[in-house]
Amino acid sequence: MSSRNGAVAPSEFPPPVDPVGEFVKRELDSEDERIEVGVAIIGGGTAGLATANRLLQLLGDDPETMERLGEVPVAVIEKAKTCGGHNLSGAVMRPGPLQELFPDMTREQWREQGFAFGEVDKEAVYMTPTSKRAIRIPTPPPFKNHGNEVVSVAALARYQQQQAEEGGAYILTETSATQLLVTDGQVQGVRTGDKGRGKDGEPLGNFEPGTDVTAQATVLAEGCWGHLTGAAIREFDLADHREPQVWELGVKEVWKVPKPLDRLIHTVGPWPLKISSKYGQIGGTWIYPMHNEKTGDNLVSIGFVVDLEYADATTSAHDLLQLFKTHPLVRKILEGGERVAWGAKALPGGGYWSMPKLTMPGALLVGDSGGMVDTVALKGVHHCIKSGILAAEAIYEQLKRGGSNFSAYEQAVEDSSIGKELYEVRNTRQPFQKGFLQGGPLVNAMIATKGRFPGGRWSWHRNDDKPMFIGDTKDSYPKPDGKYTFDKLSSVYITGNATRDDAPNHIRVQKDVPREVAETWVWMCPAGVYEIPEDAPEHGNVDLIVNYTNCVQCGAITAKGGRLTPPEGGDGPVYQIT
Ligand SMILES: Cc1cc2nc3c(=O)[nH]c(=O)nc-3n(C[C@H](O)[C@H](O)[C@H](O)COP(=O)(O)OP(=O)(O)OC[C@H]3O[C@@H](n4cnc5c(N)ncnc54)[C@H](O)[C@@H]3O)c2cc1C
Ligand code: SF4
Repeated sequence: MSSRNGAVAPSEFPPPVDPVGEFVKRELDSEDERIEVGVAIIGGGTAGLATANRLLQLLGDDPETMERLGEVPVAVIEKAKTCGGHNLSGAVMRPGPLQELFPDMTREQWREQGFAFGEVDKEAVYMTPTSKRAIRIPTPPPFKNHGNEVVSVAALARYQQQQAEEGGAYILTETSATQLLVTDGQVQGVRTGDKGRGKDGEPLGNFEPGTDVTAQATVLAEGCWGHLTGAAIREFDLADHREPQVWELGVKEVWKVPKPLDRLIHTVGPWPLKISSKYGQIGGTWIYPMHNEKTGDNLVSIGFVVDLEYADATTSAHDLLQLFKTHPLVRKILEGGERVAWGAKALPGGGYWSMPKLTMPGALLVGDSGGMVDTVALKGVHHCIKSGILAAEAIYEQLKRGGSNFSAYEQAVEDSSIGKELYEVRNTRQPFQKGFLQGGPLVNAMIATKGRFPGGRWSWHRNDDKPMFIGDTKDSYPKPDGKYTFDKLSSVYITGNATRDDAPNHIRVQKDVPREVAETWVWMCPAGVYEIPEDAPEHGNVDLIVNYTNCVQCGAITAKGGRLTPPEGGDGPVYQIT
């Protein structure tokens, strides 16, 4: 095939998966082979653990219902080595829902526990017209963060895990949930993945088969549209009459710096992005101060988020972050410091109209699995916690009286701060799909009128339908010096990535694809998983190499034409402070 540079959409090369056929199991193992729990929560991130925390508070006051849920009233299944290991965010958090979850804790105690790093009292937003200039602009309403708290979701999840364990939860870390158990139109739980298989799926000496875990309620808290969430959405038509989900990818570093940063900073471009509709790049950056009260260290969280709607295949969030660090505004903050953490993660960007139905018989979706992120303000942590609280309350109400209809949760989310805040920004980002310049004025009008003008329901189109071309964004990326700017592989290394070299491949992509698609994946993947052989032809199809053991499970490949499936439990990064 000859090159069609500029006309190849990744969706023309769909991943070899059959989500409902492969990821839904319709027969349960016999009773003596399966594990029965009261409530199974899939994903020990902020949202899943908030569900566990609230549920255990309610059950703690109601021993009768607790007892009825059996020996394991609440189980959390998490694929990372420890809760927090796969969690990454900015993160400046609206404090309300966490205060509601742990009402006896002060913000000072959050900081003593090591997951919170200070209240925002000063902030600045800059336009960066060039690689040298920064112009301070009045803070647009969505960027107002006064009173919010800078947190690490990895550290917060570890704290929530400890609280959940003290409340009586059984936390199964290093365990992937790979299939949804569905019988008679009802979710019955999940099947966990096998462990100890080799590259070709062959059982090794330490092979352990997965197990059916059945539950009276199953909570899918997998983050950014997870593996089983996708299967559930298809099985129960949860996305009917909704807009498709769209995605953003963020790459983040944490730096230890000699001088404390005294304010929270956002930049809105245009540099280093190319904002013409041809390139379609939309994104922004953050720089958040973090003071670690436990160690006394002054830290800075810095990150770059890019919409996965761009058209230049050579767009790389990792390299854009490295380039951003060369701006004088950033240099004066980081210079003399040391990078202590790196990581990458995708987030759902469609907002209100893209949220799937949140309940189905036997199960519920919480947090990013339900698409609850306001990407205008880059805020999802507080919605994750609030949705966990609401899900726990809906489940408890039903289980207390022996019921299993969790649909009250749907309306509870709509009526809560989640529904209200997401509704206000329901149309705000869609105009950007027309390009920054055409869409910008409409975005401003939507922000100013809280979504009332221009009204109606604005649609999204899928990121993987965007035709890709091989452009020149890559020409501006700095050469990594290993001290201030870094390549992808040394970055993956500092995540503590624990994937076995002989693990089976968990990335599903077509491997014989046009160069435009291959280049898209090579540049997009922050972990350097995809490689085009040196002797591949300049035009036409190439044989893609997939170094899947580098994968940090950011999820971006699912947005742009492939599929991330859960690897063996325990594999992947071990984030500490992201
Ligand atoms: C780069 C970036 C910057 C952001 N900045 C901010 C910010 O500044 N402020 C803010 O409020 N929000 C921010 N957000 C959004 C916010 O981080 C998310 O909304 C929130 O962290 C999502 O939490 P969650 O618990 O739903 O999902 P996650 O944190 O993704 O947790 C899901 C968990 O489920 C586990 N899991 C998934 N599938 C399986 C499976 N099949 N089996 C077992 N385990 C599984 C994962 O390992 C993970 O631990 C940002 C997001 C990103 C990516
Ligand atoms: S291969 Fe892994 S790290 Fe790379 S884009 Fe896909 S999910 Fe992210």
